[in-house]
Amino acid sequence: MGKVFYKLISSYLFSPTNAVTFDTIKNHTMANTQEQQDIVVQVRRDILRMVHKVNSGHPGGSLGCTEFFVALYHEIMDIKNGFDMDGKNEDLFFLSNGHISPVFYSVLARKGYFPVEELNTFRLINSRLQGHPTTHEGLPGGRVASGSLGQGMSVAIGAALAKKLNGDNHLVFSLHGDGELQEGQNWEAIMYAAGNNVDNLIATIDLNGQQIDGATKDVLPLGDVAEKFRVFGWDVLEIDNGNDLTQVITGLTEAKGRTGKGKPVCIVMTTMMGNGVDFMMHTHAWHGKAPSDEQLETALAQNPETLGDY
Ligand SMILES: [Mg+2]
Repeated sequence: MGKVFYKLISSYLFSPTNAVTFDTIKNHTMANTQEQQDIVVQVRRDILRMVHKVNSGHPGGSLGCTEFFVALYHEIMDIKNGFDMDGKNEDLFFLSNGHISPVFYSVLARKGYFPVEELNTFRLINSRLQGHPTTHEGLPGGRVASGSLGQGMSVAIGAALAKKLNGDNHLVFSLHGDGELQEGQNWEAIMYAAGNNVDNLIATIDLNGQQIDGATKDVLPLGDVAEKFRVFGWDVLEIDNGNDLTQVITGLTEAKGRTGKGKPVCIVMTTMMGNGVDFMMHTHAWHGKAPSDEQLETALAQNPETLGDY
């Protein structure tokens, strides 16, 4: 994999397809932290209700990354009013661990990319909200198909390089599961980004210590993830509690301040899979399992409605 590959990725990503304009996207500056906390709780409800309705999907990782997504879309990223696949002159986000699509879809909808009622179609045939995000459905906000794990880093690097070629000073953000790092292509991409000074990229690792079949330490130990990125030449910072919205916003803000200095930036963010629902925490069991009717009721009681269910 080399420059030709990234050129191809760049030209694909920025082809003028799927251009959509709409005026419902909300201003990215939130009035106060309470409003953001309310979104977090409502997004948790959305996640739970989406996977329950179709009895499939991935609630655990979605719940663990809720604060990250709300911080990113409602505080951190500089995004345009509207959506097009060109993505020029705005920050971009790429979800590498595509199976946590429930949190991605909910946050996009709550931000105004598409009607929240469309969350009702999650995982249904002909829905734009497939279990793993794709691009051909034309869902505003979705820039890449993901779910085949380990590939998002390469895509994000291609987009970041394209921004440099276009003279666009905006940033590229990406999110990766920790289990994903067991896949080899990541390390080629991680090496490439540092070697080519891709310093407009902020890649966040969701360090929840869990993956589909158990704890990462039992499946294939990752070692010291932060140190590994450092020795590969990245600027690394850590968020101790990725389920504390203030910590996440502070960490992402700090990361933005470290861009443009010659190194790609990595955030190693410790989260709790299933956060916000007591019986889904401290286990990998809810990686890809929907709650029963009774379990949903319990989970929703722990997350009272804030912005209104879809
Ligand atoms: Mg994980």
